[in-house]
Amino acid sequence: MVDKRLPFNLEQIQKIASDYPTPFYLYDEKAIRNNARNLLAAFDWAEGFKEFFAVKATPNPHLLRLLNEEGFGADCSSKAELILCERVGIQGEEIMFTSNETTADEYQKAHELGAINNLDDITHIYFLKETTGLPELICLRYNPGPLREGNVIIGNPEDAKYGFTRDQLFEGFRKVKEKGVTRFALHTMVASNELNSDFFVETARMLFELAVELKSELGIQLEFVNLGGGIGIPYRPEEEPVDLQKVSAGIQACYQEVIVANDLHPLKIFMENGRMITGPYGYLITEALHEKHIYKEYIGVDACMSNLMRPGMYGAYHHISVLGKEDAPKEKTYDIVGSLCENNDKFAIDRDLPEIERGDLLVIHDAGAHGHSMGFQYNGKLRSAELLLCEDGSVKEIRRAETLDDYFATIDFSEFE
Ligand SMILES: *Cc1c(COP(=O)(O)O)cnc(C)c1O
Repeated sequence: MVDKRLPFNLEQIQKIASDYPTPFYLYDEKAIRNNARNLLAAFDWAEGFKEFFAVKATPNPHLLRLLNEEGFGADCSSKAELILCERVGIQGEEIMFTSNETTADEYQKAHELGAINNLDDITHIYFLKETTGLPELICLRYNPGPLREGNVIIGNPEDAKYGFTRDQLFEGFRKVKEKGVTRFALHTMVASNELNSDFFVETARMLFELAVELKSELGIQLEFVNLGGGIGIPYRPEEEPVDLQKVSAGIQACYQEVIVANDLHPLKIFMENGRMITGPYGYLITEALHEKHIYKEYIGVDACMSNLMRPGMYGAYHHISVLGKEDAPKEKTYDIVGSLCENNDKFAIDRDLPEIERGDLLVIHDAGAHGHSMGFQYNGKLRSAELLLCEDGSVKEIRRAETLDDYFATIDFSEFE
């Protein structure tokens, strides 16, 4: 069981909502900082351990800066994400550039910032060589294919579009070495939203064993292995968070058994989580606008799938609290719905909740990663503001809400005047 209690109450949110109309995102700075420190503390045995926050999860410079202050780098996969890092002052090997189907322009930008290139395919060795020349450090992304099983979001590695096959990996390292690369690293990402801690230990073991083979077959000593992201979070109250101490202890045992025993110490361990870093500490606050009684009971809210598409897209569960009624009996069963002309615009289906009245404020939990960032503008719905609940209790607007002018900015209306 995980505690779904909120770090704020109705009065606080009413006060915030009087300055910033609903819907809005609210991130809890203190909780994010504590969580970042816990992750680093769990791996304090691992020399040079580094987490590169997956920017796509929550691409906001204020959050990137906060995480950078805690010692995190950034994992980017597009030009915009690289530019965000540049603006925040994150550069060089603090950036992991894990892209796929990359454009020359994106490789140029990564080169300009001195980011670590993590190549997704063997053909990119040549593409990168023609584009910017090969850097001294190259990371290659491994896809174990049928050798590993994945989960529902990322699919089975065999069906996943990412990475090198095992044979390509050896050929790729041989090629980059021939072409003058002197520093080597290995990456994989085979899970998403995975709650089983053994999974991450097995991923580490797989990469450690490859490090041994690469050394014996090609004489290559890896500088780091990047285990990717994908640590899950307990979206449902009955789920348990991943025990980081357990993951770390398991990886440490493998490290001794495989890396130290084969004389490959030191090998740095990197990760690039997004979801587990900010996910549980971001909330989408929305107001109940309408109630509707037809074949089912509906509550219509002022947020919609444009603000948070995970429930509509993946059928994902997001816990919902009704502010001021946190401890009230859940005697009603509702669908909580947004306003898109799309029947899957539902934040919850058949959810037991306290009786909701118009004007009630609802909190959609665990929206701090892959939430606002997946937003879109279908039906002319605008993306909401993002607010930071600062450690001192104050509230800072870290992204304003979109306006209709933003929405129409890409259209030239001159022919219609
Ligand atoms: C999305 C992604 C991540 C982050 O995944 P989370 O599930 O948010 O931890 C990390 N690395 C790569 C390559 C990704 O595509």
